[in-house]
Parts: sequence; C-alpha cells; structure tokens
Amino acid sequence: MSTLRRVVVVGNGIAGLTAADTLRAEGYDGELVLVGDEPHPAYSRPALSKALLRDADDLTSHVLPPAGHGASELLGVRAVGLDADRRLVELDDGERLPYDGLVIASGCRPRRLGIAGERTLRSLDDALALRALVATRPSVLVVGGGPLGMEVASSCLAAGCAVTLTNLGPPLVDQLGPHLSTFVVDAALARGLRILPADAPRPPADVVITAVGDVSNTEWLGLDGAVPVDARGRWRPGIVAAGDVAAFPSGRTPLWTSAIEQSRVAAAALLHGDAAPAYVPRPYFWTEQFGLSIKAAGSLPAHGEPTVVDGEGDAVLLQWPGAAVAVNYRIPVPRLRRLTEVAAV
Ligand SMILES: Cc1cc2nc3c(=O)[nH]c(=O)nc-3n(C[C@H](O)[C@H](O)[C@H](O)COP(=O)(O)OP(=O)(O)OC[C@H]3O[C@@H](n4cnc5c(N)ncnc54)[C@H](O)[C@@H]3O)c2cc1C
Repeated sequence: MSTLRRVVVVGNGIAGLTAADTLRAEGYDGELVLVGDEPHPAYSRPALSKALLRDADDLTSHVLPPAGHGASELLGVRAVGLDADRRLVELDDGERLPYDGLVIASGCRPRRLGIAGERTLRSLDDALALRALVATRPSVLVVGGGPLGMEVASSCLAAGCAVTLTNLGPPLVDQLGPHLSTFVVDAALARGLRILPADAPRPPADVVITAVGDVSNTEWLGLDGAVPVDARGRWRPGIVAAGDVAAFPSGRTPLWTSAIEQSRVAAAALLHGDAAPAYVPRPYFWTEQFGLSIKAAGSLPAHGEPTVVDGEGDAVLLQWPGAAVAVNYRIPVPRLRRLTEVAAV
C-alpha cells in the first residue's frame, strides 16, 4: 500500500472530483486537499451549453451530488506554480502547499480570437452571464461549427434568438464525418439556423460567441500545452495528470467520460504504481442539438455510409467499422460501446 500522507488535487472539475473519489475508494485515508480556481463546487460542464442555456426555468441541470471524498476544498484559489523538487504547489494567495502526491486536473480554457465583444462558454459563470443575455433575445453570431458551437447555436435558437453560425467547412464534419454532419445540418437549417462560410463577411450581431478550440491550463507548471503522461497518467515521480489537461500516449481526449476514466486510472497509479491498470481509450461522447440527441462511441469522424442497425428516419442506430452512433435512439452506453468493438473486428 502507498505511503502517501498528503495528496493535493489541482482542479475541481470532473477529473479532480473523480480522482479524489477514487483515492478514497482505493483506500487512501490520508490528507486530501482540492484546489479549484472557480468559486463553485464541482458541476456538470456539459449541461452548460444544453439545458442550462436553453430551459428558462431549469437552473439545476449542472448540479452534481455533494462530494463524498472529505477533502479540504480551497475554492476560488488558483495554483500559480510548482516546485517539483521540494514537492510544493504555489497558490495565488501566497501559500505554498506541500504534497506527497499531486493530481493535475486543471483542464483547459477556450482559445480566443480577440474579436471585439467576444464571449466564450467554459465555466458556470460564463453560462449564467450568457443565459441572462440570451433571455433578452439578441441576434447571435457563433464562430465555430464543432459540437460546442453547434450546441450554443441550437440553445440560442431555442431561446428565440436569430442565430448565424460561421465555420471553415460544413459544421461537425471534422468531428463526426460527412454523413452525420449532413444529418445535423439539415435539422439545424430546418430550425432556422443561418450558416455562412468562415470567409464570408461577418454579419453584424448583438452577441458574438466563439467556440474555436481550447488551450491547456498548464502555465502554472511551466508547460506550453497539455501534460504528457504515460498510460497510467504519470508525469513525474509522485505526479499524475488526467482529463482535458492530460495527453495520454493515445492523445488528448477532451471529453467528459474520458476525464472520468483517465482520472480513475491516474489516482490508482498514484497509489499503486505499475500494479494499477493502464488507461484503455474508448472514446464516447454525446451531444444535444436541434432536436437531436446523439450518442457516439468509437473512432470518429466516421467516413462512408453507415449500416442502419435499427430504427429509421430521425431515430436510428448507425454503425461504421470502429464506430457506433445512436441518434434519438435509446441505448445503454455499454451496449453502444460493444457495438463499436464488434464493428471494429
Ligand atoms: C460547454 C461545454 C459543453 C460540453 N459538452 C460535452 C458533452 O456533451 N459531452 C462530452 O463528452 N464532453 C463535453 N464537454 C467537455 C467536458 O465537459 C470536458 O471534457 C470535461 O469537463 C473535462 O473535465 P476536467 O476536469 O478535465 O476539466 P475542467 O472541467 O476544465 O476542470 C478543470 C478545473 O480546474 C480549474 N483550474 C484551472 N487552472 C487552475 C489552477 N491553476 N488552479 C486551480 N484550479 C484551476 C478550472 O477552472 C476548472 O474548474 C463540454 C465542455 C464544455 C465547456
């Protein structure tokens, strides 16, 4: 069993929360300190661009059950430096926090274009401010046609705004592939989304929201980019990283489920070293937009025509070699993943 007496977790998102829970579940009963620069307890980030923005009366969709890890939570406090030789995390209030084990779970933030009045959506505070603005029904320009940009556009449309979206190519084509891109874009156009190519003159709008990728929160580590870790999430002796901030050997996977699965692996490796299981990437994500609920597992973007496994029209279960996608089709995630494995053979 490990000899750690004090573990510090930096980042109070889903990766930090899961790492703290996993440490406890694996039997760690030493001191646990969680440092998070947002003033809120951990919440569901995916809800911010979905129900929270869209549903006028629902201010709870992002709320997670209260944490059970019993860590000392330093909220509204930012880590600004790391002294790995002396095993100290430097905080923005001047404190130097000693650790035996460190979990880096500081996530990422939106890449900004520097457009006048630009808004982005990453945090609960971003979402609450945007929600208040959208309630006044401004005209909205969304720059970026990935899943986040499309979700924001969809939620603004649902709230009664006139919405234009610009993207370098067809929205979602880079993430999901041409078949699903066309499927979703047809639904978006039918609901009134205006789509312009990125090189078209930018139309005037009351609100400009960009969703054009992200930047890793690793300046406090002296890094430029994600933390390169091994298959167990280890970066340096006594230090692991997981979630959006981490680049595993299989690459970066900035998705909710990956953040959970990686932080379980990383926390176990902090305690058990090589005896802990390695991370096995099995990408899964979901999105809700323009009346479509999409669950996607496996290797995307998917090219070529899919096999229709079941369903028809707007409610189908689709399969490509190595990928499976449910559109408005109820299927448990493990079954969707199994379909992926079968399809990959
Ligand atoms: C609006 C939105 C919708 C999304 N929808 C989906 C979806 O539908 N499906 C899906 O699979 N994924 C979705 N994602 C992605 C998913 O939310 C992320 O992959 C996941 O939240 C990553 O968790 P994390 O804990 O690694 O990072 P984060 O959630 O970013 O948490 C990191 C935390 O660390 C804090 N922090 C940063 N630097 C410091 C520091 N120096 N000191 C202290 N604290 C620090 C941050 O403020 C943040 O609170 C969405 C993301 C967004 C923004």
